[in-house]
Amino acid sequence: MSKSVLEALGSIFTNKYAEGYPGKRYYGGNKYTDQVENLAIERAKQLFGAEHVNVQPYSGSPANIAVYVALMKFGDTLVGMSLAQGGHLTHGHPVNFSGKAYRCVQYGVDKETQLLDYDEIRKLAEKEKPKVIVSGATAYPREFDFKEFHAIAQDVGAISMADIAHIAGLVIGGVHQSPFPFTDVVTTTTHKTLRGPRGAMIMCKQAYAEAIDKAIFPGLQGGPHENRIAATAVCLKEAAQPEFKAYAKQIVKNAKALADSLLDHGFTLVTGGTDNHLILADLRNKGVTGKEAETCLDQAGITVNKNMIPYDSRKPFDPSGIRLGTPAITTRGMKESDCKHVGQLIADAIEAKNNAARLRKVRQEVKELCKAFPVY
Ligand code: PLP
Repeated sequence: MSKSVLEALGSIFTNKYAEGYPGKRYYGGNKYTDQVENLAIERAKQLFGAEHVNVQPYSGSPANIAVYVALMKFGDTLVGMSLAQGGHLTHGHPVNFSGKAYRCVQYGVDKETQLLDYDEIRKLAEKEKPKVIVSGATAYPREFDFKEFHAIAQDVGAISMADIAHIAGLVIGGVHQSPFPFTDVVTTTTHKTLRGPRGAMIMCKQAYAEAIDKAIFPGLQGGPHENRIAATAVCLKEAAQPEFKAYAKQIVKNAKALADSLLDHGFTLVTGGTDNHLILADLRNKGVTGKEAETCLDQAGITVNKNMIPYDSRKPFDPSGIRLGTPAITTRGMKESDCKHVGQLIADAIEAKNNAARLRKVRQEVKELCKAFPVY
């Protein structure tokens, strides 16, 4: 996030309770808080083209749960993407509230192509007759066809929900299909490609506004974090500038450059590459597990996360892959040639996994690269 967003996040709005919504608070003294929250709402509406916006969700997970609580009865059927194949915990995983409170049926990707198979998703929806169908992912390197998801939902009488947590910034930048205006409900975190504070928003058609607002407060939450909402208002203003569009485009260009570099160094990538901001590398041909790769990259000063690959035979704590993304290094100013360099550093570090001296050498190179692209 920018210094301005950080400043708003650390502002005196932290000190104020404001249960309720602008104009209808359970606390006095909220004249300016109301202005701030309304500003965030109006900016989000304009930026995404949303009919109704709630900026109070504490984070992405409570936002998703609030949508379910608003639109379903316990035991109703939810269709979402499985965690093991790219979805989020809140899209119906059995250990999550979503998987416990609702009858969750999961879709994944095709075993051969590793891509979403819309015919299969349609068949699943026709068979299961869900109340809500969730699109969106945590670890899927290609575009989501939100139009197709909405068409499937409409055909089976379900509500369409898109979770654009990862790609909200790309949507604004016009480098990913937008779920607006047709999708019934859209959730997003504000701290990923949107480059805002840790938090979330729910955007929906007017028809669902009342139920969703009630599910957030008083249904699931108490006092909204108005300092975070102030920071969201700042980040949305920044996201409306032409420079932000350029940033989003560069994220995708950088991801492609990093993917190409990894391919050149003999890595196998899930789906063969990327169309968005992230890359899933399948390390099985590299003689290293996801956990080992994460550890040796940490030693080299490169932060990634171990991640399951589709149809992984290994377990989540030591899976076969790693997940990499370019939003942060793009914010630091890196371009395609720098991403090629990062790919080479990743390859060097993994190759040097048992060689402390070589890892130290890579770490020194990483340090120099970081110095050339300071965070602030
Ligand atoms: N939805 C998606 C697609 C995510 O990737 C994430 C987090 O990674 C979330 C929701 C949850 O967000 P939070 O971690 O803020 O609860």
